[in-house]
Amino acid sequence: MALLELKGVVAGYGPAVALHKINLSLEQGQRVSLLGANGAGKSSIVNVISGLLPIRSGEVWFEGERIDGRPAYRVVERGIAQIPEGRLIFPKMSVWENLELGSTALRDKEVKDVLLKQVFDLFPRLAERRKQLAGTMSGGEQQMLAVGRAMMSRPKLILSDEISMGLAPLVVRDIYDTLLRINQEWGVTLLMVEQEARLALEVADTCYLLESGTIVASGPAEEMARSEVVRKVYLAED
Ligand code: ATP
Repeated sequence: MALLELKGVVAGYGPAVALHKINLSLEQGQRVSLLGANGAGKSSIVNVISGLLPIRSGEVWFEGERIDGRPAYRVVERGIAQIPEGRLIFPKMSVWENLELGSTALRDKEVKDVLLKQVFDLFPRLAERRKQLAGTMSGGEQQMLAVGRAMMSRPKLILSDEISMGLAPLVVRDIYDTLLRINQEWGVTLLMVEQEARLALEVADTCYLLESGTIVASGPAEEMARSEVVRKVYLAED
């Protein structure tokens, strides 16, 4: 059974249709990236899964249960966390308070403490700055915080949207390395939206290519990196 499955999902904004009958399937432990130009519908897919964008038709299944139509907080409770585009950390709250907010779906204080320790192990920088107001940290540190906050809900699936946006390449590399650790050591499945095509193909094992709200190609990331359309259009190779 797939961990996550989208079946014929149609969604949009007002009269505009952003996703046309999307079919997508993720196995537990997979690392999948969504590739596509601006406006192709990558964020819309992520927002459909997390319950932020309602669907017009189709179905979304997670661990054998239908989750479309559920409010976003219920989706988090089921084990899906989002690292949103633009990070959306709470700037006037401390690092620690931001992390706490990530775990509101959990009740057990001991579990929260264990998670907090794990997040601080993954990102020692956050531990050092736990009392600092989040809005005063660097962009890279804020992105680490957004990843840590997602981890605090003890997710089975993490949806990430444009992690690299506005950050220096080395910082981006560092954050993706940590996400790969989260995938490999904790078995968390990843669905990543990434504008940087090279990176998207490198960090994922499987890649979907989106154009104008339709999936036009998908397959193992290595094969996709060799395909003509990806090389010409997204990697700008001859
Ligand atoms: P980007 O990389 O630029 O974020 P994307 O592939 O993530 O692009 P989406 O953000 O999913 O694409 O957008 C898909 C389509 O839906 C686009 O045509 C976009 O203009 C439209 N769209 C997205 N959000 C809204 C909104 N809140 N209201 C109206 N239209 C929207």
